[in-house]
Amino acid sequence: MKIIIAKDAGYCFGVRDAVNLAYDSTKKHGDVYMLGTIVHNERVVQDLSDAGTKVVKKLSEVPEDSPILFRAHGTANTVWDEAKDQNMNIIDATCPLVREIHDEVRKLAEENRPVIVIGDHGHDEVVGIASQVDNVIVVSTPKEAEGLRKMKRAGVVSQSTQTIENVQAIINVLMTKVYDLRFVNTICFPTKRNQAQIKELANKCDVMIIIGSFTSANSKRLEQLSKRINSNTHQVNSTGELKEEWFVNTDTVGISAGASTPDYLIEEVRERIESFSEKLQEV
Ligand code: SF4
Repeated sequence: MKIIIAKDAGYCFGVRDAVNLAYDSTKKHGDVYMLGTIVHNERVVQDLSDAGTKVVKKLSEVPEDSPILFRAHGTANTVWDEAKDQNMNIIDATCPLVREIHDEVRKLAEENRPVIVIGDHGHDEVVGIASQVDNVIVVSTPKEAEGLRKMKRAGVVSQSTQTIENVQAIINVLMTKVYDLRFVNTICFPTKRNQAQIKELANKCDVMIIIGSFTSANSKRLEQLSKRINSNTHQVNSTGELKEEWFVNTDTVGISAGASTPDYLIEEVRERIESFSEKLQEV
């Protein structure tokens, strides 16, 4: 059985840098605090916690003089203001590509355009994007876009990890609603690259395995993307969820992973599938 791992499967550079910064910061400062988990991956969160990165819900839970780390997918302006007002030691791990989305949103508002964000309601990145200007509209599906009123003008950006297909479908609806529409394609390049590689693999492999947490909307989207092309697609978050029967009569297996999946997890999955392959050959 041939196993092909997508070239850029797993951590995007934004998440990788944030995780490394979290480890470096704990070495330098001792315990470091974060508002929520750094990535949607239980193993990474546990490993980081063991190293001294603590998750809190509010800034008020951070002990005095301890650093607060702002995560890769951005932080709402109100939280930034609160932390600055309290002279907190802020370690900023915001991905530069998320910062670009914030800049684009402000530019659209300066053009007097109401801003529409294509993204998941309540997702931290979307909350951070929406906090840049007032009265932002968040739309997650074409159906929601259909419910919008007609507008003379609007500016649209997307959450960095959206699929091109969902964004295109929503833009198609918005074209019927907005007379003067300006769309800035803010799906980030690691996401576009990951999606393109999954489509290619799903077309040429018998079975596709997408590794990612079931709490990660990004991983779920990748699984759906692959499944549309290859119905033998399975999402797993650990090796224990892999089933030998998926690989019976299989020549080629493709593996990819969400942006919050660490390299060691991808390697463990590859090894486990290899062990199934050896067993199935013996039968
Ligand atoms: S998914 Fe894209 S925008 Fe988000 S952290 Fe990764 S590289 Fe940055």
